Amino acid sequence: MPAPFLPLTRPTIDDETIAGVAEVLRSGWITSGPKVKELEAKLSAHCGGRPVRVFNSGTCTMEIALRIAGVGPGHEVITTPLSWVATSNVILEVGARPVFVDIDPVTRNIDLDRVEAAITPATRAIIPVDLAGLPVDRDRLHAIARHHKLRVIEDAAQSLGSNWRGRTIGTTGDFVSFSFHPNKNITTIEGGALVLNDEAEAKLAEQYRLQGVVRTGFDGMEVEVVGGKFNLTDVAARVGLGQLPHLAAFNARRTELARAYFERIDAAPELHGLGLPPRDFSQTNWHMFQVVLPGDRLAVPRAAVMERMHAAGIGTGVHYPPIHLFAVYRRLGWKPGDLPIAERVGRDILTLPLFPAMTPADVARVVENLAAILQAHRQP
Ligand SMILES: *Cc1c(COP(=O)(O)O)cnc(C)c1O
Repeated sequence: MPAPFLPLTRPTIDDETIAGVAEVLRSGWITSGPKVKELEAKLSAHCGGRPVRVFNSGTCTMEIALRIAGVGPGHEVITTPLSWVATSNVILEVGARPVFVDIDPVTRNIDLDRVEAAITPATRAIIPVDLAGLPVDRDRLHAIARHHKLRVIEDAAQSLGSNWRGRTIGTTGDFVSFSFHPNKNITTIEGGALVLNDEAEAKLAEQYRLQGVVRTGFDGMEVEVVGGKFNLTDVAARVGLGQLPHLAAFNARRTELARAYFERIDAAPELHGLGLPPRDFSQTNWHMFQVVLPGDRLAVPRAAVMERMHAAGIGTGVHYPPIHLFAVYRRLGWKPGDLPIAERVGRDILTLPLFPAMTPADVARVVENLAAILQAHRQP
């Protein structure tokens, strides 16, 4: 009997959470209500007591942070090209211009050495991304931002539970954005959270979250900003409340599996030349395990490797094609060759399965299959 298909990722949702969701569904109050407030309080505790508000996506939290920061037409925002396209779409959404800075080939995150050269009088903010959960250097990042009076919106969609030098992501800095998409380390099905600096910003975030509405007394209603429809349901919040207590254990399990990947890959001579992530077992939440294929030494493109892995019953993914080469961004003037490191890494990067319900035996199976496929397709 062949082994069952091993997906790239899969959420782990326990029976207590499923029973809790059923309770919310029977309660008579299913949209934003007490469970949203409870989740916000728990996330605030995780973030050292800073104000946290939850939303129906991670994407909208960054758009709202940009609006609170007053970023709009005529402004520039510096970000990384190697991310989910949401990171830069929100910049366009508020009418500002994304300015991409190439990545560091080791961390695969924005290269902080190149950020200052990209700052102009129009720059208002930086959106760094902790790709795969590996944190961007928060000390250097915030020193640059302070020096140039820029706001920072940390796209920490992938780094919930990671830390920078012992400081949990979300407990420090300016705005911090998390996502609870099912692929992330914990989920609310769809959803996100924004860590803010003070109650005034939190109130504004609540307005942007729901049509700009402010209610007073029994019948008072005012609208002072153009808000959207970004509120999280209590059903979704209840899923998050059942997930959050498992975050530390999920991340510990992911770290253990990442270690198993390194051990197996190190022991496979066919995989010599594969680009590996930094061996960070103290700060990273191991949201993903990503390798960079030795593209110029392979006789087939990445898609063929993915197809053969799929045929072997293993899911893989690409995170990400470089954003600046998508049509929308090419129309803004970005072109191939502008960000060579992101382009090379984006062409050859491959995400291997990693989720808490996996076993070290699954890791061994992934590595064996990848080794066999790369060996079979070496450039002659
Ligand atoms: C998932 C993700 C987002 C967007 O989150 P959604 O909840 O899907 O809107 C943004 N940036 C990065 C880096 C992500 O991984």
